[in-house]
Amino acid sequence: MKNWKKLLAALLAGAMCFAFAACGNDSGATSDPGAQGSQTSAGDLPTDVQAIVDRGVLRVGVKTDVPGFGYQDVLTEEYSGMEIDLAHKIAETLGLSDVEFTAVTAATRGQLLDSGDIDMVIATFTINDERKESWNFTTPYYTDAVSLLVKKDSGIADYADLEDKVVGVSTGSTSMEALIAAAEEAGVTLTPEANFAEYATYPEIKTALDAGRVDAFCVDGSILSGYLDDSVEILDSIRFSPQEYGIATALSNTGLAEYLDDLINTWLGDGTIDQMISDNGVAASFQG
Ligand code: GLU
Repeated sequence: MKNWKKLLAALLAGAMCFAFAACGNDSGATSDPGAQGSQTSAGDLPTDVQAIVDRGVLRVGVKTDVPGFGYQDVLTEEYSGMEIDLAHKIAETLGLSDVEFTAVTAATRGQLLDSGDIDMVIATFTINDERKESWNFTTPYYTDAVSLLVKKDSGIADYADLEDKVVGVSTGSTSMEALIAAAEEAGVTLTPEANFAEYATYPEIKTALDAGRVDAFCVDGSILSGYLDDSVEILDSIRFSPQEYGIATALSNTGLAEYLDDLINTWLGDGTIDQMISDNGVAASFQG
């Protein structure tokens, strides 16, 4: 009898051990890498962020023609700028050494996000309500002003001087809308039909300005600074419409969006972003 009781106790203890071990396995190492409790080098990550880590490469859409923000040297093919630094810093935080950059324009960056070709866009992408319906945006990491690039002898000094002029803007950008609104506030009416010509790329606008097909090139000051040469100037007298730049992700990537927003807020708070701004010779954010 005594032996029988001992045997039962041993069996029960064994069964409990077995159940406990199985249970421990369940909550500890799951087959879903994105699930809570999975052990990764970066800790518990949302599924969409974990998928990037598992892939081993961060895919980022950047500008290649905006000095100080996203720029690619034509000879060395090296990328530089604060948006490039941001991409590397995000990758480093995820434990990734590999960043794959894709050149984007104002017209292509949204499509590239939607198609899943890239994980995020860090490309002078202005946050506005309309765009927030299509993509997630982080807290702004920089604010720029819209301005005009004109020939040095243009005689353009204020909004009224634009009434009989044609301004080159990029398709898919906020520039035309912003200039019409700013001129309207100054009592000047500009219309898309009479005062604007749209181009697919910024180099095409600069060529049109050089050839006299447009009288001014309108976009964010950061972008205009890439087109300065001896014959043109950026107008100090016309700076308007603060453009807040955010990192954009596809609407379905909610985990990634939150993750990036936390990073941006941390880096705004601890001076990391200020450091990137000064390292890249970028002017301090526009204060309006
Ligand atoms: N930042 C503006 C925009 O998002 C200008 C265009 C551009 O970034 O290329 O529309």
